[in-house]
Amino acid sequence: MPSHRNHGIGRDYSRSPMIVYWEMTQACALSCKHCRAEAIPSPHPMELTHLESKEFLQQIVEFGDPLPHLILTGGDPLSRHDLYELIDHACGLGLQVSITPSATPALTADALDSLKRHRIQSLGLSIDGSTAQRHDAIRAVPGCFERTVAAAQHAGRIGLPIQVNTLVSAETADDLPAIYQLLTTFPVMRWSLFFLISVGRGKALREVSPERGEELMNWVFDLTAAAPFAIKTTEAPSYRRIAMNRMIASHTSSAEMKSSSVYGGFQVRDGHGIVFVSHLGKVYPSGFLPLSCGDVRSSSLVEIYRDSPLFRALHAPKQFQGKCGICDLGQICGGSRARAFAHTGNPLASDPLCLYEPGDLARPAL
Ligand code: SF4
Repeated sequence: MPSHRNHGIGRDYSRSPMIVYWEMTQACALSCKHCRAEAIPSPHPMELTHLESKEFLQQIVEFGDPLPHLILTGGDPLSRHDLYELIDHACGLGLQVSITPSATPALTADALDSLKRHRIQSLGLSIDGSTAQRHDAIRAVPGCFERTVAAAQHAGRIGLPIQVNTLVSAETADDLPAIYQLLTTFPVMRWSLFFLISVGRGKALREVSPERGEELMNWVFDLTAAAPFAIKTTEAPSYRRIAMNRMIASHTSSAEMKSSSVYGGFQVRDGHGIVFVSHLGKVYPSGFLPLSCGDVRSSSLVEIYRDSPLFRALHAPKQFQGKCGICDLGQICGGSRARAFAHTGNPLASDPLCLYEPGDLARPAL
């Protein structure tokens, strides 16, 4: 996972993303309750081939400097037989690569050693509960928790930085403080709190209410002062509004705001700073916004990202509708386009998780 501070600043997100997510395969030995990919045991017959995958990696380089960070996801990237060759190829092209493997029996110490040897920058692991019982109940896969904890411990031993991804839903919200305590015992680089969006198998779980979301985001902001790792939210960009509000209230200077970890993620949202490429080569604004805008088999990823009608609209918050369209924080937040789409069928609608009434915040010039 990239450091926002190192990759985001100075980049024009309408021209180039900070992160390219590549769903290398839909295949995975698990079948988690909230899997976005609706993973299946075997690869799809139309999955990008080895050669097509290399051609796709070359397309990422065509964004030019600064190059986007590549995150390999799935399904389970470890189930791709050509995984290490593709990592080497991507690194040879100058890309920095991170990976989010599934907690299957394939996630061994040897596999982690190989990832480190092949120059993987960081490892994304999912922890959705503070105990084996809670985590495995959310994932609906027994044994996941122990394997994840063992992987985190081994990654710490070999110096492979870890981002822990945690689902925020009605089912997990009360357990977040205990999960935080657990994470302080691992060498975690970043904790990413993913606010559930009802897509894929995620429909089996419930999103938190806007009021509970607001409480949780304030709690996250309180934690950031003392946490031994960075904390970020995913699909909850209105956290930036809360963080800014709190920093203004405590008379934080503009320079201090700019050095905060939340500042590095300003402006990034689905389709603006982020692009997602599926195992079939289809291009989406994010993994949670299931509107295909093109196909890397037949079109240029760069052209799709810069010029396809949906991406162009996502680059321009003034085109958003409802509160997000008139919001004074539209540029730095813009709302979750994926949640807007999941709730209304319109990716440009307002983010229903946000309670803010535009104009209420005295915003400093940043
Ligand atoms: S109204 Fe929309 S753009 Fe404004 S803070 Fe809320 S989610 Fe962000």
